[in-house]
Amino acid sequence: HSRAVFVLHDQLNLKVWPEWVREEKPLLVFMESNEKGNEIPHHKLKAAYIISSMRHFALECHDEGFPVLYHSTQGHFDDGLNELLEDFEGELTFMTPSEWDTRQRLRNVRESYSERVQEIPNGFFIADADQWKDKIEPGYRMEYFYRDMRRKTGYLMNGSEPEGGEWNYDDQNREKLPDKVQVPDIETIEADDVTKEVIEMVEHYFPDHFGNLDRFPYAVQRDQALALLEQFINERLDEFGPYEDALKAGNHTLFHSRLSLYLNNGLLLPREVCEAAIEAYDAGNARLNSVEGFVRQIIGWREYIRIYYEAMMPGVRDANHFDFEEKLPAMYWSGETEMKCMEQCLKPVIDEAWSHHIPRLMVLSNFSNLTETDPRELNRWFHLAYADAYEWVELPNVLGMSTFADGGVLASKPYVSSGNYINKMSDYCKKCRYSVTKKTGENACPFNYLYWNFVDKQRDTFNDSGRVNFMVNMFDNKKSDDEKKAIRESSEKFLEELKR
Ligand code: FAD
Ligand code: SF4
Repeated sequence: HSRAVFVLHDQLNLKVWPEWVREEKPLLVFMESNEKGNEIPHHKLKAAYIISSMRHFALECHDEGFPVLYHSTQGHFDDGLNELLEDFEGELTFMTPSEWDTRQRLRNVRESYSERVQEIPNGFFIADADQWKDKIEPGYRMEYFYRDMRRKTGYLMNGSEPEGGEWNYDDQNREKLPDKVQVPDIETIEADDVTKEVIEMVEHYFPDHFGNLDRFPYAVQRDQALALLEQFINERLDEFGPYEDALKAGNHTLFHSRLSLYLNNGLLLPREVCEAAIEAYDAGNARLNSVEGFVRQIIGWREYIRIYYEAMMPGVRDANHFDFEEKLPAMYWSGETEMKCMEQCLKPVIDEAWSHHIPRLMVLSNFSNLTETDPRELNRWFHLAYADAYEWVELPNVLGMSTFADGGVLASKPYVSSGNYINKMSDYCKKCRYSVTKKTGENACPFNYLYWNFVDKQRDTFNDSGRVNFMVNMFDNKKSDDEKKAIRESSEKFLEELKR
């Protein structure tokens, strides 16, 4: 073969590769790298998902007539490619990796073999990051970007006007889940022999990595992922919007799509997922506030987050606006805690390497912020714990959106709340040993006093350019001296005990 193409584990879809790849059928090179797998102790289920998907994809390509080289290396991707290029004398093409470090490694290979290694732009996203990344600065919010993306794609547009007259229908999307609403189950995909072999391998090579691998529920092939997309569109999309922010004990998926895993490694493509949702709206099968909200997550948030990553790397990796120094509380690893909300939000991460957006933001990040955890510790945890986590998407969500570590480039304020908000959106509190209505003292909900403690200690961040923030004002003027003292004491005691 005179031509080869290196396909990374998150680039598993030939549709977005240039036409010559599909026509000429060059040698496709896949690589499993032990060093990459060991950089951080990725969830075992995540490791199995990534490897099994890549093996399945390589087999499918082979069945379609592509010559395939499936290489495994003890080293990293660049070591594997250097080994390969010593023997293989043809040209090698790779697509710009979406993750920073892998990109640098492959570019080093390109430098060493400049006359026969070629890099092509990453085709897995809708927006061209180079065109947008200069706009990323404090105050450039997702919403502006999103409107431009609606115009660019024409999704849910009537000429230059948004469908229904509004760009965003989130005021209809904040309902708690009533008991009577039935949530459809998501189909579990049976692990086949390839996946079973990978599971054994992961248990063998990464026995100490995070999480459980007793059950493997995910699709590992495009046709399976397409079936899950169809099931979401038919059974859950219509109610996605209203219950998007809801949380329920014992059901961690609700009406979310759980398609992030497949979007992030190429089994599904962002355009086809949006178009399937819009088709359901056009056919009268899904309401506008659900479809608009869903499409916004993908052409808005997902694309914006990626542009932020391109603009902010690598400096943002060190971001720690509040200079927090605490370690991540032990419960993030064990799942053991008496706080019902934390227990319920950690369980699906440990068992399935996934949870929807609100547990990530409203509970797990909130608690990390309130306990003054170093955001880089939380960032590492999210990176290794979630099956959909690749640095380009995980880091901006953690260091930008949920912890305010970047000092306000992505979000306008730190994401913190008291127990009240969790109680409003969930049924956790009535099953908890703490009392959400109690503000301080022994059985009070820790979120309550920790929240005011945070407002008090981080007042400079809340007070925007000299103006006193509403919450700081509440603390200063509406709380008695005794209440303030009790807040400080309860917080100190709780934070002290958490370290033990
Ligand atoms: P849905 O609710 O059904 O949304 C549809 C799709 O929109 C998702 O599949 C996803 O591709 C996209 N999307 C929605 N919100 C975001 C967002 N904020 N950023 C990027 N894409 C988004 N998403 C990841 O894909 N990988 C991560 O590692 C990741 N880490 C996160 C960490 C934190 C602290 C927070 C707050 C959010 C994180 N997200 C991450 C975003 C979001 O929580 C997940 O994309 C979503 O929960 C995936 O579930 P779903 O497929 O059911 O999403
Ligand atoms: Fe969480 Fe507090 Fe509610 Fe318990 S009472 S579930 S700790 S918010």
